[in-house]
Amino acid sequence: MGIIFEKIAIIGVGLIGSSIAQAARIKGLVGQINVATRREETLEEARSINVGDAYFLNAAEAVVDADLVILCVPLGALESITQTIVPHLKTGAILTDVGSVKGHVHKVLGPLVPEGIHFVPGHPMAGTEHSGPLAGFPQLFEGRWCILTPEEDVARSAVEKLVQFWRGLGSDVELMDAAHHDMVVAITSHVPHLVAYNIVGTVDDLESVSKSEVIKFSATGFRDLTRIAASDPVMWRDVFLTNRDAVLEMLGRFSEDLSVLQRAVRMGDAHALEDLFTRTRKIRRSIIDAGQETDATDFGRAHPTAED
Ligand code: NAP
Repeated sequence: MGIIFEKIAIIGVGLIGSSIAQAARIKGLVGQINVATRREETLEEARSINVGDAYFLNAAEAVVDADLVILCVPLGALESITQTIVPHLKTGAILTDVGSVKGHVHKVLGPLVPEGIHFVPGHPMAGTEHSGPLAGFPQLFEGRWCILTPEEDVARSAVEKLVQFWRGLGSDVELMDAAHHDMVVAITSHVPHLVAYNIVGTVDDLESVSKSEVIKFSATGFRDLTRIAASDPVMWRDVFLTNRDAVLEMLGRFSEDLSVLQRAVRMGDAHALEDLFTRTRKIRRSIIDAGQETDATDFGRAHPTAED
């Protein structure tokens, strides 16, 4: 594909920032990678695995002369970081982010972006429950979607360049209105996380079943929810603070459906239960067919064989 940007600056080098840097380098998409983060320990971790070419504790210094600046910090930190860097951005640079809620990013960052900077917010729909530079890996975006939500008046050439960059990292790219994006992720990501946090929290509060029993018998279903409920607390706090309306709307639908299900259980309505579980099984099949999940037994967990 060749070099798309001569110099990029990655501000925040956790799971997402580190993965972007590693993939961009391996795929040869960029000339130089500047990496900035807040804490010395994180910068040292990033340096230890050689994710960039130059390392900064001051984001304003990292963005100088960069053609592309990618903000990879929690949603709650975006505003102050943007205020710090905007006076130092090169005219004609593309400014993007990876935040999971796009309406908030447009509302808070949009007014801060000066003339001459192409602002193209983005959201790679890929992640794990781990954080920090060492959690990053270059294949994270392979076959996953990245959604970009530029306003109508942003230069198409800038949007197209960022699309090429994400495709180069291995993603499929779709452009979408920010409000629509937030509704889509509310039901595909945010409500499922809230449900997982809630179930794991309920189990934690139970008195009639001991914690050791919960851990011991977890492979019956609970275990798979704990992966989601182990996601980064700060990131997810910010998601629910910034995507409140869409989450509440989807949660309303969820609660209604849960009441229907509760009634089916109470009434012993075998038909309703089997009908729902048959429909939901088909959804999982479609996700596997779309290449977004493995069909391997037990979610692809490695199992010892007779030879091991
Ligand atoms: P992470 O591994 O926790 O890394 C966060 C980075 O942001 C670190 O470099 C951290 O710096 C910096 N940071 C944290 N708080 C800050 C603050 N108040 N001011 C300045 N810098 C701060 O996070 P991540 O998983 O890469 O996620 C980053 C963002 O990407 C998320 O907030 C989310 O919106 C988005 N996202 C995440 C996922 C996911 O599954 N993780 C998926 C898609 C999008 P120090 O370590 O130096 O403090």
